[in-house]
Amino acid sequence: MADPPGRHRWDGPDGATPVDDARPPVLEVANLTRVYGAGRTAVRALDDVTFRVAVGDMVCLMGKSGSGKSTLLHQLGLIDRPTSGRIVIDGVDVTGLRESRRTALRLERLGYVFQEYALLGELTAEENVFLPALMRGLPRAECRRRSGRLLDMFGLAERARHRPAELSGGEQQRVAIARALVNDPAILFADEPTENLDTASTTQVMDALAQTNRDLGVTILFVSHDPDHRRYANRVVYLRDGAIVGPYL
Ligand code: ADP
Ligand code: MG
Repeated sequence: MADPPGRHRWDGPDGATPVDDARPPVLEVANLTRVYGAGRTAVRALDDVTFRVAVGDMVCLMGKSGSGKSTLLHQLGLIDRPTSGRIVIDGVDVTGLRESRRTALRLERLGYVFQEYALLGELTAEENVFLPALMRGLPRAECRRRSGRLLDMFGLAERARHRPAELSGGEQQRVAIARALVNDPAILFADEPTENLDTASTTQVMDALAQTNRDLGVTILFVSHDPDHRRYANRVVYLRDGAIVGPYL
């Protein structure tokens, strides 16, 4: 298979960033394994995964259904705990952290976008976006300022007072991206963010992610199984049966 188009760059058989890459890592993963269940029914969803992500990277994570993509994002996003292995985020080894510290880190340093948007239906777009900033204890005026700026950036200023049910799927997902950015995270995780969207909305959401990476400098790991989305990334990581297998399947 030929190299995918665009900014794609393959970094070696194990997906590791080359040693001459001067940018500091924002994420380091070593020998990460996650086994669900035990005994004869145990599923090894992640199997000894090792890689690094540099500040400013935009990584596209690909692989068939069941290959472990969501499981990997759940470990990196501190939503789940690995069976073994090490994760260092922004210089902090998060592997052994207490739940309260993980929760704080998740709120302050990480953003998460889900396939199904996960907006609160009774709140407006603006309120959905500033909720994580309120939870963090920022003054209400600052929360409003941040959410206004982000909604504006994604072309949603006119939609600020709308509730999710009054928005298209693409608009809802862009609101969800704005919400994930409101606390100025170091890393944004997006798990198949365009899976429920039509072609036009998909382009808008992918463009919003690209804009986030380019203009705000946020490191992004996104999952997609649309080969066309590789062009948005500067790195592509392929998973198969819980292991990194590289770009040439
Ligand atoms: P992907 O996101 O690539 O489709 P997942 O990470 O969701 O893959 O799943 C990887 C493997 O782990 C699959 O075999 C799946 O059935 C299994 N799995 C995922 N979550 C659980 C769970 N909570 N309990 C048991 N098995 C799970
Ligand atoms: Mg998945």
